[in-house]
Amino acid sequence: MLLRAFTTALLSLSLAACATLPAPQSTAAPTPTRFEAGMVSAADPRAAEAGAEILRKGGSATDAAIATMLALTVVEPQSSGIGGGGFYVRGNADGMVDTIDGRETAPALAKPDWFLDSDGKPLPFREAVASGLSIGVPGNVALAAEAHRRHGKLAWRDLFAPAIRLARQGWILSERGRDFLLRNKATGMRDKAAAALFYDAGGEPLPVGTKLTNPVLAETLERIAERGSQAFYNGQDGADLAIAVARDTPRKATMTEADVMNYKARYRKPVCGTYRAYKVCGMGPPSSGATTVLSILGMMERFDLSQMSASSPTFWHLFAEAQRLAYADRERFLADPDFVSVPVPQLIDRDYLAHRSGLIRADKTAETVEPGLDLIPPDGDEPPENGTSHFAVVDRDGNAVSYTSTIEGPFGSGLMHDGFFLNNELTDFSFVPEKDGLPVANRVEGGKRPRSSMAPSLVYGPDGKLVLAVGAAGGGTIPVQVTKSIIAFIDWKLPIAEAIAVPVLYSPDDTVIVEKGSALEALIPGLKALGHARVVAYSLPLKTNAVAVTSQGLIGAGDPRSEGVAVSQ
Ligand code: GLU
Repeated sequence: MLLRAFTTALLSLSLAACATLPAPQSTAAPTPTRFEAGMVSAADPRAAEAGAEILRKGGSATDAAIATMLALTVVEPQSSGIGGGGFYVRGNADGMVDTIDGRETAPALAKPDWFLDSDGKPLPFREAVASGLSIGVPGNVALAAEAHRRHGKLAWRDLFAPAIRLARQGWILSERGRDFLLRNKATGMRDKAAAALFYDAGGEPLPVGTKLTNPVLAETLERIAERGSQAFYNGQDGADLAIAVARDTPRKATMTEADVMNYKARYRKPVCGTYRAYKVCGMGPPSSGATTVLSILGMMERFDLSQMSASSPTFWHLFAEAQRLAYADRERFLADPDFVSVPVPQLIDRDYLAHRSGLIRADKTAETVEPGLDLIPPDGDEPPENGTSHFAVVDRDGNAVSYTSTIEGPFGSGLMHDGFFLNNELTDFSFVPEKDGLPVANRVEGGKRPRSSMAPSLVYGPDGKLVLAVGAAGGGTIPVQVTKSIIAFIDWKLPIAEAIAVPVLYSPDDTVIVEKGSALEALIPGLKALGHARVVAYSLPLKTNAVAVTSQGLIGAGDPRSEGVAVSQ
């Protein structure tokens, strides 16, 4: 019953996601770029170039990743930026990995009924997004400051130069950028300041090719460049941010200056596991990224995938079944570890995953799928998202950063503050605080961080050396995009650009969604013959970025479904 309700919700939400997405583009493999020096892969060429510029100046992978995050705030404002949060996974060439959680945080006054109306019913999703209720205290600036303190080489202010230049001198509105403005007018125009930047007087998005500037954002970035992260969180700046959010929040209990001032980026223990002879490391809770990636990989490991390919229905069937099992656990157990005890070691334990994998049959679909551990009450449904940007950097010393940054949905909450969009990350919480009389793990609580799907990952080879930095945008599909790319890279030995281009099948429960317009549509009858009752083709919000370390040097790639590219030092 619960699973069925979730499927229905997922389907309708997937459809909602389609309505706000650019039409799917060809999934033909792009030509990979190959370089010997450091490299940056990002969803926007201007942002990748910003990172590469910092590498050329002698910056570390961390420096370049921060510059990329800042540049994305300017040129891909619909997806990520300093008004949102992110997760940073940094490793050296030999596998010493650090992870920093810069996830947005709920105001201290937030209670489990945050998203309920006066009758105790969940607010309509869009209504919740388009208000201060959805805005968490942004984490990216604190994350960047902490990462820079630990792993930066250049001066902090130098990292801001490319983004400030873009904001001041301008950047060209791309087709994809305009498409987002067109499809998300309600959010993109909610704030007058944003409307004035991106739309004409008649409410139409400015034409493709327009040179856009954002002088207010340039000033904000200059302040943070000069005064550090306190120019975001402390004093009048922090107070102004809280006031802007409070003004937009239909409740008395709201974000305060203290919430902003007290924000901390947190070091979290990296979550690492093995897949065949490889080590895969990523972001633990409050992200469900690494546990879900490792769970799917762990269940797939007993099958000889090297004998299968992207055109094998059996592969996609096994992949769908492993996803169902992994997402059942994710739904039940993953939330902010400062509030809920998340059984990470058990969830990625090899024996446990071998047992879960034993539930998968190559010739038949499992009728129902339940979580495998019985520890915490079930979680709520989660809508898909279309914000977010992943970027991967490897510097010439072999240090790597895999960083996923987000403002959640397209243009976040739609509230623009000091030239950047404020996130709607709090809608990643479960709106429903209780299910079957039990508290939901991912319910809203004061000071809590909403569960994420973001899965910035690093992969180390049999010799312990870095082979891949990879991650993706696309809400709940993120762990699947990352897992699929890792399998294609390791088992099928595809160059990373082709591994990213392999289509996606997403099956978080008993509905199988295949990427619309991809070769997987032809496999629908085969999948149905294996017992998958509902197999549907939808446009999925897919956007993976990666850099691979190969015997020919670094090879980076963006997703052919996006404008992403890799740029060398
Ligand atoms: N807010 C989402 C998360 O943290 C990501 C949004 C997206 O990728 O579209 O899981």
